[in-house]
Amino acid sequence: MNDILPDQTPVWQFVEGKVREVLSGYGYQEIRMPIVEQTDLFKRSIGEVTDIVEKEMYTFEDRNGDSLTLRPEGTAGCVRAAEEHGLLFNQTRRLWYTGPMFRHERPQKGRYRQFHQIGVECFGMTGPDIDAELLILTARLWKELGLDAHTRLEINSIGTSAARREYREALVGYLSGYYDQLDGDSQRRLESNPLRILDSKNPDTQKILEAAPKLDDYLDEESLEHFRRLRELLDAAGIEYTVNPRLVRGLDYYGKTVFEWITDSLGAQGTVCAGGRYDGLVEQLGGKPTVAVGFAMGLERLILLLETLELVPDYVNANADVYVTAMGDQAVPVALGLSESLRLALPGKVVVTHCGGGSFKSQMKKADRSGARYAVILGDNEIASGTVGLKPLRSDEGQQELEQAELANTLDKLLDA
Ligand code: ATP
Ligand code: MG
Repeated sequence: MNDILPDQTPVWQFVEGKVREVLSGYGYQEIRMPIVEQTDLFKRSIGEVTDIVEKEMYTFEDRNGDSLTLRPEGTAGCVRAAEEHGLLFNQTRRLWYTGPMFRHERPQKGRYRQFHQIGVECFGMTGPDIDAELLILTARLWKELGLDAHTRLEINSIGTSAARREYREALVGYLSGYYDQLDGDSQRRLESNPLRILDSKNPDTQKILEAAPKLDDYLDEESLEHFRRLRELLDAAGIEYTVNPRLVRGLDYYGKTVFEWITDSLGAQGTVCAGGRYDGLVEQLGGKPTVAVGFAMGLERLILLLETLELVPDYVNANADVYVTAMGDQAVPVALGLSESLRLALPGKVVVTHCGGGSFKSQMKKADRSGARYAVILGDNEIASGTVGLKPLRSDEGQQELEQAELANTLDKLLDA
């Protein structure tokens, strides 16, 4: 679990800001859920035999003896909240949320125990049009972040649960013949979650899979048609993708469309955004049958990617614009007042007031370190004459003396030059 330190938060705010902007531009509404839910909610939605539920959840008993879990993902809680508050009754919804998620995994680059996701969930829309919109929206976000050349889209259809059940039998039948050659994880999954083996990163297992039965041979007509239409819509929108027939998601609730946005610039932890359809989940959790589709993206990985590729724009690490010094007790109220009037007159500019006293030299050192382009000098002389000294910190130009009343106007011109 990481602290996100002051010199890192500007990048976070930059990414979060872009996501917010894009999502609200598509008419998505934010929802905020609690960080803990009843443990049972995750078991019933994500699935008892998934990695998350089997070994990654932070589960504890509260003082009433209820079993609670720190949310490992947001979809379950979002569905719970939407149902509980009647948001899904006879209407469509486009929702998003952001916040920390918790999974007890082996920490490594791009994989942490507390990490942050932005999740998007759409309810009540059956057709592949909304699937396409989600992918168009994410593609737009990559463009806004300068990541479009560094992410690629993989899509697949995993059909209905009936189709998967049939396929599952065929796959288990085939893989059982190679049991001894499978890696330990895959051997375990052969019983619990065989489709997940398709996802194995082990090259030997992948080799065995080459001749395995193919999921798309088992897909039902409706899923095939949905997928065909989705591909048409993506083609029409100019969204590039590859169909990866082995793409399955690690959570039980997905069906039909699944997708991942992958980068090749982060090594093994290359999935920056993943999602799909989960038409059965709302009903499974006790609601009226309501189709749904959504995705989650990992903020840590996005930020790591931006930093690795040096794509964080300079303006993100915004420095102070003006540093107002105050030499001597009499200067302090004037410095506080002048700073306030500068903030009013120069919206969007960062005005830092020196606090804590100290010599001229030490105040100028702090002014320099703040990154400000100008220091406002306020000492006994200036106070006596109602003036200020204005000193450029990033050029060789000399200091000028101004009436205090002229300061805001002068700075306005100088800062925009
Ligand atoms: P992976 O295959 O990398 O374990 P996942 O299938 O478990 O991913 P999801 O549950 O679909 O991932 O979560 C969506 C996204 O959230 C991932 O694509 C990734 O960007 C991010 N993510 C998931 N787990 C972690 C983690 N432990 N640390 C950081 N980011 C994570
Ligand atoms: Mg995982």
